[in-house]
Amino acid sequence: MPAVITLGELLIDFVSTRAGVSLEEAPAFEKAAGGAPANVAVGTARLGVTSAFLGKVGEDAFGRFLARTLKENGVDISGLCFSREARTMLAFVSLQASGERDFEFYRSPSADILYTPEEVHTALLQQARVFHFGSISLISEPSRSATLYAVETARQAGALISYDPNLRLNLWADEHAAREGIRLGWPLAHVIKVSEEELAFLSGMEDITQGAQALWHPELKLLVVTRGKDGCAYFTPDFNGEIPGFPVHAVDTTGAGDGFVAGMLAGLSEQLLASLDQTRLHEILRFANAVGALTTTRRGAIPALPRRQEVEAFLAQAG
Ligand code: ADP
Repeated sequence: MPAVITLGELLIDFVSTRAGVSLEEAPAFEKAAGGAPANVAVGTARLGVTSAFLGKVGEDAFGRFLARTLKENGVDISGLCFSREARTMLAFVSLQASGERDFEFYRSPSADILYTPEEVHTALLQQARVFHFGSISLISEPSRSATLYAVETARQAGALISYDPNLRLNLWADEHAAREGIRLGWPLAHVIKVSEEELAFLSGMEDITQGAQALWHPELKLLVVTRGKDGCAYFTPDFNGEIPGFPVHAVDTTGAGDGFVAGMLAGLSEQLLASLDQTRLHEILRFANAVGALTTTRRGAIPALPRRQEVEAFLAQAG
């Protein structure tokens, strides 16, 4: 029975073999498994917490590669569907000299978009302690309805609902559609993780505390704002605080946010939020910061996600 279930996009990232160039100039691409919710499922499994992934890929070589990658990493894929109508979503990615990522998505439509409410593995979902989703599956129908159905089912079964909006502006029609779409998931979540940039975009405010207050909702128990190398800030109905990051030699920040979420959900799946005091929350978020930091020390997302032993050794050394 999986403790953590994630739902959303599972795709191939074709990453330019040469860094510092645009997609136009990229000479070749290396294939890697991608998709934030899938990274979170692998991340939690690596930390020794059982996980499952719900979503849809194409009945093609890339879909089979992704299914195998999740399975080899210990993720339950009994709720993963295969489409004969559409192919697996692809993204081409290059890290430009400016540090900005150049992205092009192939999904018109891709299999992940065709995931329907009827395909959601309801019985599995009803067993989860934590349910986590993102905003990419909220962009188009029918995956939007499938996502909202899954959130509602998990909520009714008493799961903790976690949301990472993960803004990808070029997948939405425009900024207005992105704000509106992301807000669909917002009031349904007990735990939300956003980056500093996402909070500013959604709230229209640069100040983190003001932004967090503006976006607060009555059912929210924990809002975490990640701040890259500076760690994170958190807000709860009873207390707020900041947890500094860990100095590491970062080589690729891909997947840092997903690693952070995996670390946080691993902790929250073991302890109910209602019984969480500030000391324990600090421990959990410090652990999440360590997972995020370690993820930046290796290339890629899934290959970079650390195991529990590595995180514990890192924390012990950091003192
Ligand atoms: P996202 O990847 O979602 O944009 P962040 O860049 O804020 O999110 O990173 C998520 C978390 O990963 C941070 O809160 C921090 O704990 C860790 N992290 C990210 N970048 C670094 C870095 N350069 N050095 C140390 N830790 C980092």
